Amino acid sequence: MKIQKRIEILKKETFAMFPDAVTDLLYDNEFQFLIAIIMSAQTTDIQVNKANAEFFKVLKTPEDGLKLWIPEIMEYINTIGFYKNKAKYIHQTCELLIKNHDSTPPKTIDELKELAGVGIKTAKVFLAVTEDAPYLAVDTHVHRVLNRVGIVHTQTPEQTDKKAEKIFSLDDLALLHHTLIFFGRYHCIARKPKCDSCPMTGMCKYYQKNKKSLTWK
Ligand code: SF4
Repeated sequence: MKIQKRIEILKKETFAMFPDAVTDLLYDNEFQFLIAIIMSAQTTDIQVNKANAEFFKVLKTPEDGLKLWIPEIMEYINTIGFYKNKAKYIHQTCELLIKNHDSTPPKTIDELKELAGVGIKTAKVFLAVTEDAPYLAVDTHVHRVLNRVGIVHTQTPEQTDKKAEKIFSLDDLALLHHTLIFFGRYHCIARKPKCDSCPMTGMCKYYQKNKKSLTWK
């Protein structure tokens, strides 16, 4: 089956399953959203939300961040992975936002990447949500799904990201941003994909190869 046909099926089926997919992260403004994405690296959104239930009561602006010592930030976020580094990133990002961006998160990938703890994926997630920018946030879920259904054949999320930019149209990228994350997170799960209720078994290379040994059978 050709790649574009696979993309059409993926779009149709995943969007039908998760038509209202939005970010799971909780926040009240764009600054908090940026901080929440920085915190979410290698940590679940649920853990980030739990930490931020208290943290975001005192962190509503970059100026609030500079009033906190880094050890104080660590206290708020010490339930998430890599909290020591992330506390430093949060403090530095607050400083840079005040110094270079009038306390407002910038809206280009290059400017975002100059902030502390912000890589290409963080920047794309931020712009996709705040600007509806046509970026696919290729995390491990999206990387896994696109390989399983035979749309890419890559080894890392970074390789998948580059490939996706070439083969998906801008409209597809915008539409699939949250949908694919949800599909990977809640349906095409890493260890136990729900193939028994998946409409894409016909084209899925992973399913075709592993159907005899899949544990739900
Ligand atoms: S058939 Fe299974 S492995 Fe393939 S996309 Fe569906 S859930 Fe994922």
